[in-house]
Amino acid sequence: MATTQSTMRWTRDAIQALFDLPFNDLLFRAQQVHRDHFNPNEVQVSTLLSIKTGACPEDCKYCPQSARYDTGLEKEQLMEVQKVLEQAGRAKQTGATRFCMGAAWRNPKERDMPKLLAMIQGVRDMGLETCMTLGMLSEAQAQALAEAGLDYYNHNLDTSPEFYGDIITTRTYQDRLNTLSHVRTAGMKVCSGGIVGMGEDQKDRIGLLQQLANMPVPPESVPINQLVKVSGTPLDHLDDLDPFEFVRCIAVARILMPESHVRLSAGRETMSDELQALCFLAGANSIFYGEKLLTTANPVAEADMKLFARLGISPEQRKAKPDLFYDATAREAC
Ligand code: SF4
Repeated sequence: MATTQSTMRWTRDAIQALFDLPFNDLLFRAQQVHRDHFNPNEVQVSTLLSIKTGACPEDCKYCPQSARYDTGLEKEQLMEVQKVLEQAGRAKQTGATRFCMGAAWRNPKERDMPKLLAMIQGVRDMGLETCMTLGMLSEAQAQALAEAGLDYYNHNLDTSPEFYGDIITTRTYQDRLNTLSHVRTAGMKVCSGGIVGMGEDQKDRIGLLQQLANMPVPPESVPINQLVKVSGTPLDHLDDLDPFEFVRCIAVARILMPESHVRLSAGRETMSDELQALCFLAGANSIFYGEKLLTTANPVAEADMKLFARLGISPEQRKAKPDLFYDATAREAC
């Protein structure tokens, strides 16, 4: 898809001005942008499966999968390919069009690659779009995943460059940007966003959105997560973010990245139906669907479908002839 936004550089002042708009004006503007680029009554639905849980060596302060925090999480080895494919089949039956597979790793090991490639090929053969989140990737690994048919790679920036060091010390912001660059070069679509409510200031939320919007090609998928406070993690005691500030983040993301799917992601299980509806009005048009979002609870599929019905929203159908890959030669980041 041509990206009008790719040539637009957003300054922090310009983004601040959007956050400063009266709430109704901001939502109106976001909804206008949304209608110019998407069917406003469709929401893309993805299912996320944890294919390898816990014991991660990284120290992300929000994450129950880090081996450094005692969260009572049961660790699991990398799942067998057949089990993953069974789960993908179930996800398809419940209406998912994209199947996301997440592993709690610093980066994939070479010995894991054959299994990962088989998972991608198997899920793709079912007619589902594929997405993985496996940590940092080398150029060669990104290339191998793309060649197996991986459509999307998720790697979040998490927060602003300035606040980042308060949350993670075991990998740098630049490490994350490098992985995203390898994903782009390999021709895959990028899924990248962040987490709000981690004790950051508004200027950090602005800094995160600026980083995402000013990429040469902004991510096709932008998850905006609300911190899930898991007992035992260093952030488990924080105050909740004002829900209206959360909606503002969604609306500003929609305006800054008009052609991206903005995903209402982690934290949804604690949101009221009314708050989720406001997020859809602000331009969120993707959700995770299913009972588990990696290791934290997610509203059950039935409740999601009921909410969609009450709001007149339909799940977005996968395009018959999907534009799954970019021509990497024709164009220039868990
Ligand atoms: S967010 Fe990802 S990299 Fe960080 S601790 Fe959790 S699983 Fe590991």
